[in-house]
Amino acid sequence: MLQQTQVSRVIDFYHRFLTRFPTLEALAGARESQVLARWEGLGYYARARNLHKLSRAVVREGLPAEAEQLRKLPGIGPYTAGAVSTFAFERRAALVDTNVARVLTRVFAPKLHPKRARDQKAIWAIAEAALPRTGKAAWTHNQALMELGALICTARVKQCGRCPVRGICKSRDQE
Ligand code: SF4
Repeated sequence: MLQQTQVSRVIDFYHRFLTRFPTLEALAGARESQVLARWEGLGYYARARNLHKLSRAVVREGLPAEAEQLRKLPGIGPYTAGAVSTFAFERRAALVDTNVARVLTRVFAPKLHPKRARDQKAIWAIAEAALPRTGKAAWTHNQALMELGALICTARVKQCGRCPVRGICKSRDQE
C-alpha cells in the first residue's frame, strides 16, 4: 500500500483491509473483485492484484527465505526480496532503497548517482560486496545502513562529524 503513497493516506485503508482480510488465507480465499473493492480509492490497482496473487502463492507453497526465490513472487521487487530475506530470515541478502543507495554512493562511489537508472546495477553490486559474511551480521549491517541514511547521512544534511563510517567515506566533509 505504501508504494508511491504516503502513510497518512494509507492508514485507514490498511485497517479496513485487515479487518476484512485478517490473514493470508482469508485474502487467498477471496475473489479478486472482493479484494479490489476493498482497495477502491487507493489507486495503483496492480498492487492489489499482485498482493492477492502473492497471498495465493504463499498459502500454496510457503514463503521462501532466499531473495532470488522471493523475487519470483508477484509484486516482489529486488528491494522487498532483499528486505524480507535479511530481516525475516537473517539471510545474507543485499537491499538498496533510497537511503541505502545514498549512503553507499557517498561512502564508496561518489560518481554514481542513486537515482540514475544506468547506475543501479553498480550500486547493487556495491551493496552485495559490502555485506558481511554471515546472515546474522547482514541483518545488523542492513539495519545500520538504513538508519545511517535516515538519521546521519540524509538527503538534506550530512552529519559527518558524528558519522561512524567517516574514516572510510569518500564524501566526508564535502558539501
Ligand atoms: S562521512 Fe558524511 S558523507 Fe560519509 S556517510 Fe557519513 S555523513 Fe555521509
